[in-house]
Amino acid sequence: MLSLSRISLPLRVLLTVLFLISSGFLLSASGKSDEYTFLPLLTFGCLFITLFLIFNIFPIKLYQRIFLGLLFGALVGLIWGDSILVFEPVGKAFIRLIKMIVIPLVFASLIVGTASMQDIRKLGRIGLKTILFYLISTAMAVTIGLIIANVIRPGSALPEAIRTELGQNYMAEADSKLAALDRTGPVELLLNIIPENPLQAMSEGQMLQVIFFALMAGIALTYISDSRKTGIINFFDGVTEAMIKMVQLIMRLAPYGVFALIAGVIGQYGSEIMLSLAGYFIATLFALLVHVLFFNTLVVRFLTGVSIKRFWSGISQALVVAFSSSSSSATLPVTMECAQDNLDVKPEIASFVLPLGSTINMDGTAIFQGVSAVFIATIYGISLTFPDQLTIVLTATLASIGTAGAPQVGIIMLTLVLESIGIPLEGIALILGVERFLDMARTMVNVTSDLSCACFINTQEV
Ligand code: ASP
Repeated sequence: MLSLSRISLPLRVLLTVLFLISSGFLLSASGKSDEYTFLPLLTFGCLFITLFLIFNIFPIKLYQRIFLGLLFGALVGLIWGDSILVFEPVGKAFIRLIKMIVIPLVFASLIVGTASMQDIRKLGRIGLKTILFYLISTAMAVTIGLIIANVIRPGSALPEAIRTELGQNYMAEADSKLAALDRTGPVELLLNIIPENPLQAMSEGQMLQVIFFALMAGIALTYISDSRKTGIINFFDGVTEAMIKMVQLIMRLAPYGVFALIAGVIGQYGSEIMLSLAGYFIATLFALLVHVLFFNTLVVRFLTGVSIKRFWSGISQALVVAFSSSSSSATLPVTMECAQDNLDVKPEIASFVLPLGSTINMDGTAIFQGVSAVFIATIYGISLTFPDQLTIVLTATLASIGTAGAPQVGIIMLTLVLESIGIPLEGIALILGVERFLDMARTMVNVTSDLSCACFINTQEV
């Protein structure tokens, strides 16, 4: 990656100030005049170089850059209003890059996730109980997220006029998409999950159908001989890894993408949207807290032999690693150690339940997806029907199986949930600025849930 570390600090600051002043000048000029078509382009280039310079004055982490991108975007949007729409293509390019990964990532990681359950039959009872626990806890998590989001309704404080305008703009773009969306009864909804042609489902981005097919393919793989399936699983494992790498590469552009998207949104609709974002942030953290305090703590209290105090102090190390790494897979070794050393989970149970959990059990991610879906829908003035909310529970639960335990994969999977009910993916731009911190928080919840399941199974199998 391009770095300015060889240029001395005073020179970097000077360059930044020069470009900042030029950008301001160009922005005011391009806002006033339509005559010079090269002007917006020049402004465009100048502002992005300025951003690059600002990000490079001091070495800062990516999430800090994204947050700065959000702040600068908001500022520029507030100052220059509508004329900032000249940057729209940058934001759109960023969203397209994210969309590009969804289908291959979902498909490959779901196949690997499901096929990794190959020991289920071997482990019989334990396997079945574990899977059931994970599915129920995730469905529970997304339901808690949805209930809290529906009660708090982050985004509803946004003036009606702005929401209508946002909604109308979106509708104008996506009329055909919405028309194609099946909003009929629950029977059709379920029937529609089965694809007639999996390749068509992929090319049309029919997420539930893709998930269904990937799950079936993963399950089928567990039935064929090791010599045959190893190659296939390795292949999809490689694809998943490459896609995760691609997420990381694309995320390097996030500060610029977020800048352009937020500047556009605020330029067009004003600063109230930022306040709604604070509401969304608090609602998500609150929902995560409610889930661990009620669901996980109650499970530990009533369904395991471990005391609540011992559970929380025993898992604290794993929580710290989860928070700082934002990756349940990277945390796995510590999670296993906490389970065995502090909670006396038998090694054979820990070695099955926890790796499986770090692949398929993502309660925190599911909560995040539920709250985000409601928030973005509210912002766009879309009211979610009961079947819509049911679809969110279903997609988020399934998506969590396909969410690899790596940083920011949850946001890619969110596109899947949003798309399944026709919520504009552009809404992701609004939440990206605070997403990194939410990722840290939801990864802690993901790990807590895996550990509470390990205690539950351990107690059951004494
Ligand atoms: N970072 C999360 C995890 O590793 C996944 C996500 O929600 O992005 O558990």
